[in-house]
Amino acid sequence: STAATLEQPITPPVQVKHTQLLINGEFVDAVSGRTFPTLDPRTGEVIAHVAEGDAEDINRAVAAARKAFDEGPWPKMTAYERSRIILRAADLIEKHNDEIAALETWDNGKPYEQSVKGEIPMLARFMRYYGGWADKIHGLTVPADGPYHVQTLHEPIGVAGQIIPWNFPLLMYAWKVGPALACGNAVVMKTAEQTPLSALYVSELFHEAGLPPGVLNMVSGFGPTAGAALASHMDVEKIAFTGSTGTGKIISELASKSNLKKVTLELGGKSPFIVCEDADVDQAVEIAHFALFFNQGQCCCAGSRTFVHESIHDEFVEKARARALKRVVGDPFKAGVEQGPQIDQDQFEKILGYIKSGIDSGATLEAGGERFGDRGYFIKPTVFSNVQDDMKIAREEIFGPVQTILKFKNLDEVIKRANDSPYGLGAGVFTKNLGTANTLMRALRVGTIWINCYDVFDAAIPFGGYKMSGNGREKGIYSLQNYLQVKAVVSPVENAAW
Ligand code: ADP
Repeated sequence: STAATLEQPITPPVQVKHTQLLINGEFVDAVSGRTFPTLDPRTGEVIAHVAEGDAEDINRAVAAARKAFDEGPWPKMTAYERSRIILRAADLIEKHNDEIAALETWDNGKPYEQSVKGEIPMLARFMRYYGGWADKIHGLTVPADGPYHVQTLHEPIGVAGQIIPWNFPLLMYAWKVGPALACGNAVVMKTAEQTPLSALYVSELFHEAGLPPGVLNMVSGFGPTAGAALASHMDVEKIAFTGSTGTGKIISELASKSNLKKVTLELGGKSPFIVCEDADVDQAVEIAHFALFFNQGQCCCAGSRTFVHESIHDEFVEKARARALKRVVGDPFKAGVEQGPQIDQDQFEKILGYIKSGIDSGATLEAGGERFGDRGYFIKPTVFSNVQDDMKIAREEIFGPVQTILKFKNLDEVIKRANDSPYGLGAGVFTKNLGTANTLMRALRVGTIWINCYDVFDAAIPFGGYKMSGNGREKGIYSLQNYLQVKAVVSPVENAAW
């Protein structure tokens, strides 16, 4: 019956409205006139042809953003007016929740239930969080030596370039557009070539909410053309990027070679999920399963090294295997489906390559290990046990539904092994012992520790990486710093007694 579903994909409950670039508040074709297809990952068939922006379109978008920033009205509006526009956009997102969710699932392949109940409501929530910040950003009065009055102004940076990936198109949009607008910047965003559709829809809603033209520009297109043009543009003063560590290095290099624009990066990970000997095994299995398989395993912070204490190891492996075998894979528009297709052919092949490498290097394949069905980019939930630290599947980011289970004996050892990675994005810790939790919490060199939970992404919780997982923090109060600069203002006081 699942195979039948794949042969006849469920018709998504939405039409594609916008396929052009959004520049200066208007939908326009690319200068070149070119388009590229965006594909349905359930089938590999074309959903729509989308305008393909490149360097010239980036130039146009940056010029529009520059004008909107330099001449206003955006940075000259009161903070309250900016706040209200962002809050109105959040209301419109909520109003169109189901359509946006359908578009997101169609283009990305994630379960519709996840889009409609999770991600799109979160998009509205994030925008309300940032709308709330817009009129609460201000500087300090500073006590200086000498007869001076000193204050700081927290000002927007100017034109912010933003490049996002395809795994959470609209959450990545929210984490970047939200703080940039709240702080009064103008934005040029390049979406991922696999998932251009939903951001166009949502950006149009911002304009409906009263956002002035030029403040939020969307350029669909490819990385080495449109993306690189944005990262190297001399009139872009900040670049925020989420994606692979390799591309993050390129972005950083382009930024420094051009105008030293400020850079924040949110990159890859190989996050440990540590299950201690006192853990409730059933709970730990369920959360470790979620930590890895959520979003088809396409999460930068996926709990992708499952370390299990030797005393509960065999029971854990057996239960993790059973859970993976039970995972419901199928058409993401079908109710009850937990796992849809991977994003595209490249990722699909890359993941199957890692699975082969796991088998070849001697890890034990407990479940899955091959494609699901014969169409689209579905992969069976896969579990490996007997994974050793030096295997490729334990070191490199797989970005797919492949759980790797490693055995450990004691805390000191697992701390060393968990930290032995170029990445430092997230970690999960499963224990009932507060002392153990606190030891691990302090020792692990990562940007987020989830204790007895995983992937909790509240708007107020900062997120970002240690080591080669990036720099800067998104969400929360810390994210505002990415889009502000501080101006110190010093003036003499005539009577020093005051
Ligand atoms: P992924 O493996 O998730 O596709 P990437 O880092 O390649 O990771 O992609 C994330 C985003 O970076 C996408 O929007 C992509 O188009 C963009 N990108 C890829 N290569 C470059 C590049 N050389 N310069 C700028 N942006 C790029």
